[in-house]
Amino acid sequence: RNCQQKFNATLIPGDGIGPEVVDATVKVLDALGAPFEWDIQHAGIAGVEAHGDALPPQTLASIRERKLALKGPLTTPIGEGFRSANVRLREEFQLFANVRPVKTLIAGRYDDIDIVLIRENLGGFYVAHEYYIPVGDDPKAVAVSTGMNTREGSKRIARFAFEYAVKNGRKKVTVVHKANILKALTGIFLEAAREVAKEYEGRVTMNDMIVDACAMQLVLNPWQFDMLLCTNLFGDILSDELAGLVGGLGMAPGANFGADTAIFEAVHGSAPDIAGRGIANPISLLLGAKMMLDHVGLPDLSARLHNAIFDTLNISQVRTGDLMGTATTQQFTDALIERLGSLK
Ligand code: NAD
Repeated sequence: RNCQQKFNATLIPGDGIGPEVVDATVKVLDALGAPFEWDIQHAGIAGVEAHGDALPPQTLASIRERKLALKGPLTTPIGEGFRSANVRLREEFQLFANVRPVKTLIAGRYDDIDIVLIRENLGGFYVAHEYYIPVGDDPKAVAVSTGMNTREGSKRIARFAFEYAVKNGRKKVTVVHKANILKALTGIFLEAAREVAKEYEGRVTMNDMIVDACAMQLVLNPWQFDMLLCTNLFGDILSDELAGLVGGLGMAPGANFGADTAIFEAVHGSAPDIAGRGIANPISLLLGAKMMLDHVGLPDLSARLHNAIFDTLNISQVRTGDLMGTATTQQFTDALIERLGSLK
């Protein structure tokens, strides 16, 4: 590696606790000496306030040029209002794969959890085409939602999952579906996965599980799982459940991959209930940044960041409130930077 190499990346502070955890993450990356050159752009409510659009053209242009972004959570109004900027971003850059790894970092209800969830990011029920059918004088008497999975898209995400398994030394992919009821929508996903799995026989095994049973098994015996391959909505839900196994939403990162663009983030949202109070746990986004370091080919920096987070939690015993600690975001960040120094 050329030590002078810089990686240009878009930085989106986001909404709610977004700017707080993004600020912490950038400080830590600086202390680590991570060679990112940031171009700060806005999206979500911040995008609407700055440029009248939840996904302003300048933000899109910045990502299009750099093909790499670190993103804070974006608020999406519930029930009405503008369309999710997250969903638009995924569509715009065809970020078909969402990777959500969880790994135990602190002792808790479950030890030694190490599961990677791969979520199909462009189809299913999540990117719903929704409408109402009026009856009598009620314009919203009937609500309809449609989901769509293509064979091609299902095979593409299955291949991504199996390739990920091979590259990362994982042995088993569990395909999560509801093909007993949603026989077409999730049946095609299961069928495509089975077909792709044949190419990996002897290297990676595949089994499948109905989503409701999987949700229960994750609580009863999560150690049976290595990787989960999910349709969009099921992946959204189960990845929050996975986060719960390792201490909550403050501990779970995510990465969105397309053919040539990658956007790294936290699994959690903008947490309006704690925004502005300086108490958010920045670990999710920090682990997102760790995935970004792996992505650009800097595994040493990634490992140092991971070890420093582990030591801050377990040796320094500095933890934010969601982990039953008393540290503010700033105190955690300072302690982590100190740890990075001692790991040099
Ligand atoms: P949320 O993830 O923002 O919060 C759920 C709960 O977890 C809250 O009690 C919150 O305080 C807590 N929490 C989340 N992250 C935390 C952290 N880092 N440290 C400590 N506690 C944390 O989910 P929500 O309240 O359902 O959603 C709020 C908004 O975020 C919505 O507008 C939603 O659309 C959006 N959202 C965005 C993304 C994204 O940008 N990727 C993901 C999920 C939700």
